[in-house]
Amino acid sequence: MKIGLFGGTFNPIHYGHLRGAEEVREHFALHKVIFIPSGIPPLKILNLKDKYHRLEMTKLAIESNPYFEVSDYEIKLDAPSYTINTVKFFKNLYQGHTLWFIIGVDSFLELPKWYKHGELLKMIDFIVMSRPKNLTENYILESCSLIGEKIEENVFQLKNSDKKLYFINITPFSISSTLLREKIRKNESIKYLVPDKVISYIEANKLYRS
Ligand code: ATP
Repeated sequence: MKIGLFGGTFNPIHYGHLRGAEEVREHFALHKVIFIPSGIPPLKILNLKDKYHRLEMTKLAIESNPYFEVSDYEIKLDAPSYTINTVKFFKNLYQGHTLWFIIGVDSFLELPKWYKHGELLKMIDFIVMSRPKNLTENYILESCSLIGEKIEENVFQLKNSDKKLYFINITPFSISSTLLREKIRKNESIKYLVPDKVISYIEANKLYRS
């Protein structure tokens, strides 16, 4: 099986995440994409909603897609969740299968701040999704010290690793969880940015109001 691991805070999950994952799945012919909401992300604590709410919203968002799954692996940890440990866990769970780590280009550029990122880059191939704000393939190439030579169109060698980076231009969605939290706070509509079931969950649990 070809499996994509898609980590994120999903605070809350939105159509940028969902459509990106779907385009990645289709393009790379993945058998499944596993959404992994982070428990306590080491680098993103501000305004972080209860991890069980984020897990529940992710479950609701993906339930209509048979290729999508949610894992509570990071949510169940009591300590900060480091991606390197998550990747080790899934590589062990899916021995003999091919795993990719799916990530947006903005997050990939933050990778040098991640715990043991050098080791992580040696462990798994990355699928990097475009994200609006001019973060194009050229931008990544020019600014990122982690990327080595170009192998073919949209495929790059990762430096000091035999793993690769596969870049994919996805339909641009100018949505972020930050924007959604702001809209909710201001009492503005988030319809068509987030699945209806997630909106109902946010309303029922009065999330992101203050
Ligand atoms: P926040 O605004 O709180 O920082 P976010 O919208 O970036 O959140 P995350 O949960 O941090 O959402 O994102 C998980 C992953 O999805 C990251 O790798 C991020 O780059 C990617 N991602 C998020 N939104 C989009 C989008 N609109 N298009 C493409 N990738 C996205």
